[in-house]
Amino acid sequence: MFRAGDYVKVDSLAEAYELCQKRSSVVVGGMVWLKMTSVTKRTIVDLSGLGLDKIEETGEEFRIGSMSTLRQLETHEGLNRCFNGIFKECTRHIVGVQMRNCATVGGSIFSRFGFSDLLTAMMALDTYVELYHGGIVPLAEFAARPVRRDDRDILVRIIIKKDGRKASYTTQRNSRTDFPVLACCVSRWGNDWYVSVGARPARAQVVKITDDGYDSLAKLAKEAADSFTYGTNTRGSSEYRRQLAAVYIRRLMERLTGRSVSRG
Ligand SMILES: Cc1cc2nc3c(=O)[nH]c(=O)nc-3n(C[C@H](O)[C@H](O)[C@H](O)COP(=O)(O)OP(=O)(O)OC[C@H]3O[C@@H](n4cnc5c(N)ncnc54)[C@H](O)[C@@H]3O)c2cc1C
Repeated sequence: MFRAGDYVKVDSLAEAYELCQKRSSVVVGGMVWLKMTSVTKRTIVDLSGLGLDKIEETGEEFRIGSMSTLRQLETHEGLNRCFNGIFKECTRHIVGVQMRNCATVGGSIFSRFGFSDLLTAMMALDTYVELYHGGIVPLAEFAARPVRRDDRDILVRIIIKKDGRKASYTTQRNSRTDFPVLACCVSRWGNDWYVSVGARPARAQVVKITDDGYDSLAKLAKEAADSFTYGTNTRGSSEYRRQLAAVYIRRLMERLTGRSVSRG
């Protein structure tokens, strides 16, 4: 069971950052994950008074505050219009609406869980994290960093550029609201494909594949799928995941090119 002695609703990010430099403090999002752990802390640092629960759209980008919930992503008209509904698709299988009304974008992305649907979807877009201390960093670079207990930075917001990419997302799940066996997101920008695969079961990574017009989508999808490593856990074997990846990546590519979806 998670335990904490004090609760502080901070008035500024500076106050939150200062509090969080103590090992006995922890910044919280929706606490959906933390409450299941056996962590004991002296102080909970709550960011909910800082107005970070908004998704703002400008001409160039979306700015998603770290306290925005998964449900806000799922139902945001602008995000889903711009990126072909991937935010609805990557969140709708996560437990249930009540849970998605609590779990936050900040908690999801800062944790960099291997199974993260959100990380997989955002990696295929031109996405950046804004850290209070570390500044603005490309998401792929942030995701590649090891999750360390002594990393006491605060995720302020996620920035997604509206660069014209079209995207598509899918997952394989053994049952409807379980963690994914595999998560795939593909986006297309000109001749470039950005392919992100998560729940391998390692955390999501992204590769860029350039389409010179000579290769079939099946070949490009296989090339993308083979560039990742896959592992085995209770949900599936590495070989099963590799085969799923090649098929799902091809289907997502087909969806984005408007070619008829082939079998297999
Ligand atoms: C039963 C269950 C099933 C789930 N299934 C899925 C699934 O299928 N797919 C999926 O993608 N996700 C799944 N999740 C994860 C969920 O989507 C969230 O990622 C998770 O709950 C964390 O979000 P939170 O707001 O609850 O974070 P919290 O529990 O509050 O925090 C989690 C961690 O993030 C840190 N943190 C929070 N906010 C910040 C911040 N702004 N800056 C720095 N650090 C911060 C905290 O210190 C803590 O270490 C599941 C979770 C549960 C409990």
